[in-house]
Amino acid sequence: MEYRRLGKSGLHLSALSFGSWVTFGNQVDEKAAAEMMTVAYDAGVNFFDNAEVYADGQSEVLMGKALKKLEWSRDSYCVSSKVFWGGEKPTQVGLSRKHVVDACHAALKRLQIEYLDLFYCHRPDIHTPIEETVFTMNDLIRQGKILYWGTSEWSAQQITEAHQVAREYRLIGPTMEQPEYNLFKRDKIESEYLPLYDNYGLGTTIWSPLASGVLTGKYSGGIPADSRFSVKGYEWLKDRYETEDGKQRLEKANQFVKLAKNLNMSAAQLGIAWCVKNPRVSTVILGASRKEQLVENLAAIECVKKLNEAVMREIDAVFQNAPKPAPDFR
Ligand code: NDP
Repeated sequence: MEYRRLGKSGLHLSALSFGSWVTFGNQVDEKAAAEMMTVAYDAGVNFFDNAEVYADGQSEVLMGKALKKLEWSRDSYCVSSKVFWGGEKPTQVGLSRKHVVDACHAALKRLQIEYLDLFYCHRPDIHTPIEETVFTMNDLIRQGKILYWGTSEWSAQQITEAHQVAREYRLIGPTMEQPEYNLFKRDKIESEYLPLYDNYGLGTTIWSPLASGVLTGKYSGGIPADSRFSVKGYEWLKDRYETEDGKQRLEKANQFVKLAKNLNMSAAQLGIAWCVKNPRVSTVILGASRKEQLVENLAAIECVKKLNEAVMREIDAVFQNAPKPAPDFR
């Protein structure tokens, strides 16, 4: 495993990490969760990603039970949660002091841990002053309940504002951002955030490296019954590939599978290795619904060295003019 600094912070995260969106609590039960986390940890993964909204809290409950059972030394791994969508009531959503504090406490309880290593604002909240959120995150750090805080899918402008507030009041600003990054979605990491790496030492923990599995080529012959596109409640993901643009993206994925084959690796491995290759990426968060996928995907770290300039050019050529997916995941 390779370890990278999370931006300019002193925290070293594994270049590949493991997340639980869609899977834990929907496709993966407690036993399988513990098994997959063990596979990841044994391969050197030291960061496990979660959020209050995943399976309405059940994803954190499962991860908490697994952590308890596995009894790893608490200083050997990092766990995250994210705050934004905590329920239907007005006090249960967004980034107000009230919800951020409540969400932090609830996540700690579900995960059965004493502090969160990383805590994210899952989306920007235009109804809460940025000062309120930055002060609250700073307080949670001072109280020892979280160690680093960050954002997810914020614009460069919003992240900059958070840093300006932090500087003005001598508070701790956001350390990391969690954007989508894969061969269909490159804009934020490769262009919009460019000034933030130097100005603020931004770290990035990127999500959906395989575009929800599309880049494996698994959807080229239809939708397998045991795949993410068949999971109840996630029909909107499938819908995005039934449009003309979506069909073109599936075709790009087919070409990508052939390219990967020529390189003697799977498309999943090539898609993940391509994300790791970018030094702006601190960690690539993997998703897997079963152990075999995770084993295959973790081996992507060995494939990075095969991605020379010629290969990178070939990959770019495949995805040139690929239609961009819709801007958000929900
Ligand atoms: P991916 O794009 O890698 O998709 C993972 C899914 O693709 C798996 O669950 C599996 O689904 C399929 N898959 C993975 N590997 C293989 C393989 N080798 N062969 C065949 N199918 C495979 O990542 P995710 O979308 O899961 O995102 C990763 C993590 O990022 C999440 O768990 C979460 O922690 C985080 N995230 C954060 C978001 C945010 O807003 N901050 C949003 C989304 C995710 P299946 O078998 O069911 O088809």
